[in-house]
Amino acid sequence: MKTKFIDEVKATPGGEKVLSCIQCGMCSGSCPMASRMEYAPRQLIAMIRADMKEEVLSSNSMWYCLSCYLCTARCPKDVKPTDLAHALESLATQQGYRTKGNNNPAMYRAFVDSIRSNGRVHEFGLMLKYYMSTNPFAALKVAPVGLQMFLRKRLPLMPTRVKNQGDIPAIIKKFKEVRSK
Ligand code: SF4
Ligand code: SF4
Repeated sequence: MKTKFIDEVKATPGGEKVLSCIQCGMCSGSCPMASRMEYAPRQLIAMIRADMKEEVLSSNSMWYCLSCYLCTARCPKDVKPTDLAHALESLATQQGYRTKGNNNPAMYRAFVDSIRSNGRVHEFGLMLKYYMSTNPFAALKVAPVGLQMFLRKRLPLMPTRVKNQGDIPAIIKKFKEVRSK
């Protein structure tokens, strides 16, 4: 049987309290990014409850969240809309939803891959992966900055790996366990 979207959201860290919302609108009224979002926080929650998965996960709303926590501080029902926005980002990324004009998921993926491979961020590799998966031609715009950084030894072409690299999978596993509590 197909899982209802509301159940997916509730099972994702950050989305547990979505059913507590009373639709008072305090979050949307407080949100500095509401006018840029396709659906402001209160509306997003109503759509989750109406099983509008496609519309929610392909929207730009959660990607515009600045994590300012105004909504979370003012919500009378402790719904934690900031955490909910991050839960939706997570679901959209895991399930391959793409938002037109939004390359944040590609940047997140490149960042995580860099950490997995090296234990730290390798800026050159991260940017290379990001531009190759989004718009390689856009890299031309930042190439002069990259060249200057390279000449000043601030952008090594090869990654430097942390010691005890074999511990990284265990650290990531532990992080996931802690986050899901
Ligand atoms: S402030 Fe809280 S209860 Fe009110 S609409 Fe937003 S999430 Fe729902
Ligand atoms: S945390 Fe995100 S959703 Fe909440 S008010 Fe700030 S920008 Fe808006």
